[in-house]
Amino acid sequence: MRSFVLRAVLCGLLVIGVGTAASLFAQTTQQTTSKAGTPAVAPAAAPKPAAKPSDANLPAPTRADILRGAYGPYRANNKLLYYHLDIRVDPEKQTISGKNTIRFRMLKDGTRIQLDLFETLKVDKILYGETPLEYERDSGAVFIDFPQTLRAGQVYSIDFYYSGHPEETGRFGGMTFKKDPAGRVWINTACEETGASMWWPNKDQWRDEVESMDISVAIPNGLVDVSNGKFMAKTDLGDGYTRWDWKVHYPINNYDVSLNIGSYVHFADQLGDLALDFYVLPEDLEKAKVQFAQAKGMLEAYQHYFGEYPFVKDGYKLIEAPYAGMEHQSAVTYGNLFKNGYLGRDWTGVGISLRFDFIIIHESGHEWFGNSITAADPADMWIHEGWTTYLESLYVEYRWGKEDAIKYLNGDKAKVKNLRPIIAERGVNAEPDQDQYFKGALMLNTLRSVVNDDAKWWALLHGFYQHFKYQNILTEDVVSYFNLHTGMNLTLIFDQYLRHAQIPRLELLFGEEPGLVMYKWRADEEKFAMPVRVGTPGHWQIIHPTTKWQWMKTPLTKDEFQVASELYYVDVNKQ
Ligand SMILES: [Zn+2]
Repeated sequence: MRSFVLRAVLCGLLVIGVGTAASLFAQTTQQTTSKAGTPAVAPAAAPKPAAKPSDANLPAPTRADILRGAYGPYRANNKLLYYHLDIRVDPEKQTISGKNTIRFRMLKDGTRIQLDLFETLKVDKILYGETPLEYERDSGAVFIDFPQTLRAGQVYSIDFYYSGHPEETGRFGGMTFKKDPAGRVWINTACEETGASMWWPNKDQWRDEVESMDISVAIPNGLVDVSNGKFMAKTDLGDGYTRWDWKVHYPINNYDVSLNIGSYVHFADQLGDLALDFYVLPEDLEKAKVQFAQAKGMLEAYQHYFGEYPFVKDGYKLIEAPYAGMEHQSAVTYGNLFKNGYLGRDWTGVGISLRFDFIIIHESGHEWFGNSITAADPADMWIHEGWTTYLESLYVEYRWGKEDAIKYLNGDKAKVKNLRPIIAERGVNAEPDQDQYFKGALMLNTLRSVVNDDAKWWALLHGFYQHFKYQNILTEDVVSYFNLHTGMNLTLIFDQYLRHAQIPRLELLFGEEPGLVMYKWRADEEKFAMPVRVGTPGHWQIIHPTTKWQWMKTPLTKDEFQVASELYYVDVNKQ
């Protein structure tokens, strides 16, 4: 044992480069318990920093990004209350025209507010009552000037008229004028990341939302428009067009607002008092009736963990669309080929994804995380994607148990790159790295293991959702809630996973003979500390490594000694 300690210390000196063999020897030889040891107080050097995120390859924010991303003074001086988007869509000319009525409360006296509309679209006029307002366009921003000072606390309403051809753009198409497979008109919007102002004028940011919204869409007779909210009426306008009216009874983020115009057929179902409405192309009706039956089980699972579906008055809808899917609030769009998995593939590659339809389960999970709870800045979008990816595993756990849920989540590891932090730069409309999905979910699974009490974990998740529902929040709000309600300080764990590229690495140092192992975390956060289970499956014991060396007795050899890395997303380095 002595020789082991000496070897370990020598080795440790090589690794950590500080301390004296004599001092560590003296302290470690006093350790006699077989439990995880208290700190051996070997003076460890500051952890070698993991590779710093390299953002050199990221494009610098454009002026449009800065105007879109910043919550500048002409946004911060008002609070949105209501939109009425009232438009006409011409499928032949591929144009959109109409107005958005925007009601807001001033928070400060002022004469100017900022709204947004892509430069590709024309501002026809902006009216305050009967009075045309002056405005200045700058990239995608529209600064509107009032002839008199608007007073703090007062509510104002303007009508923003616009027209033009929205250009197809972005990851999901923005606004597309397509034909369905049978050659009929099929027009859809999906503008997350690109921004809703690519097709309609609004206050295009994430922090502020209206409290409710009306959506009126005039389209040629015979077509159907499905938008967000509750269907109110359709009115023949007498000029070959019919107006479809939808009412959103809840706060809604701009990118969730959606048009789906096509030859849709409708079928309906009910889950308790909740209306379920489904809209698909006529030839897909029978397939959809089979596949969309999964919506009920999904809703039951998420309601079990988080509470009532957030948009009961608006109902839940699934609408066929020409792209894979999007979480449009209460009007989830679906293009997953009526197959299980993701476009028919085993999405996490461990044999579980093919049991369910990924798009129904994932995009609908956003009703709780993304639509009800929304990030206040796109930089914090892991609140949408990390959480909803984790929700997929909750669906698996609800249906098939914990073991399969953990297996499903661990399938995500192959998708993580660890090249950049998950949280992007705030205030510049930055798009977070794709790690926000899988690494975000794996971090939450890690936190569950840190909390180490499933009953407490479920109460924490439920309480967290209930506390923040219908709000726009930042990562700091998540961390504060978790710290307060676990009684633990989890800040450095959140920070390591969200604000650095690398995950923590557990350094394990063995001698030639079994008996002792030294351990510590290597992490970017200097004071990183996180409990972790080690030993062998079925006989895990929890140790509490920090970034300083500690040691424990173990009967296990280096090869036998394991870390429960299915329960914690960490690297392990055995020496
Ligand atoms: Zn998503």
